[in-house]
Amino acid sequence: MHSTSLKPHVVTLGTAGGPRWWTGENAGKRAGISTAVVVGDAVYLVDAGTGVGNQLMKAGFSTANLRGIFLTHLHSDHTIDLASLAIFGLFTITPGQKSIRIIGPGDRGILPPASPRAAVPPTPLYPANSTPGTADMFSHLMQAYATDLNDRVIDALRPSPLDHFVASDIQIPQGTGYHANENPTPENFAPFEIYRDELVTVTATLVKHPPIAPAFAFRFDTAEGSVTISGDTAPCENLVTLARDTDLLLHEAIDFDWVERAYGHIGTEAAQASMDHHRLSHTSAQQAIELAERAGARTLALHHLVPGTTPVSVWRSHAADFSGTFVVPDDLQVISFATEPAEMVVSR
Ligand SMILES: [Zn+2]
Ligand SMILES: [Zn+2]
Repeated sequence: MHSTSLKPHVVTLGTAGGPRWWTGENAGKRAGISTAVVVGDAVYLVDAGTGVGNQLMKAGFSTANLRGIFLTHLHSDHTIDLASLAIFGLFTITPGQKSIRIIGPGDRGILPPASPRAAVPPTPLYPANSTPGTADMFSHLMQAYATDLNDRVIDALRPSPLDHFVASDIQIPQGTGYHANENPTPENFAPFEIYRDELVTVTATLVKHPPIAPAFAFRFDTAEGSVTISGDTAPCENLVTLARDTDLLLHEAIDFDWVERAYGHIGTEAAQASMDHHRLSHTSAQQAIELAERAGARTLALHHLVPGTTPVSVWRSHAADFSGTFVVPDDLQVISFATEPAEMVVSR
């Protein structure tokens, strides 16, 4: 019996980072961050940024292909279209399809400390439930749409998202020293398994994206190759460990020159706090190349580009420093992560 290659690849559904719609030149050319990991007919999404549903359809997939939605962290630019996937997505679900897993960070458990730049302590929203995790977030999102959902379930006899999507929180192994505020990125953290089916094994590590915690990077291993997705992070050794000898590393990148131009002249404490966040929590293209080189990644693709409107030439300015294949993909670009070219895979 001959088996056809599963030709594992990603489709970059959205490549812009940031909780906003980027304006000016190149506005609208990049959707919010989301990546489809494709193995055979199965699609695993990593993050659900703005426009993800439309991009999934444009890539030729639908929720009928979807097995899981993996959230690297709970910043809104990674989650803003989660509700639309689960509600609009009902129309393309196949009856009898296995439940689509939504897997992401658990409850932060404690608020982050206030910025030392705050003149008066800021007031948290919803103090009774101020740091919900993935399962709680999904439940609240669906509850917010109860009027609509009940209309459709009761009158139009439509399916319920609760019958097709199952959300759960990633449990960080005990004994790692992890603490949301005091130790959000323990050193020498051993990657741990968060999902497995007959096509993929997904492992996670903790990366460095303060003050949000936990913040994860994910690695998908398949029979024919691996892809590692950094999530949002400053340069992080845990990511290098996770991405060791991976076929494809998708790493975030920020243009620090833009940060300086955007905030440097304002001079307020709020602007300074924004600059602090970007410096401590993100990675330049040059740094991403150094990390990929050390990890031994065969291909490096930059995504979660901030700003989402920066010309590609800026991202490519250090491309010559990478010994593997370097890509700055557009949206809807296909990038293989097969270790061997597909035609060389031997039939069984
Ligand atoms: Zn982000
Ligand atoms: Zn983030």
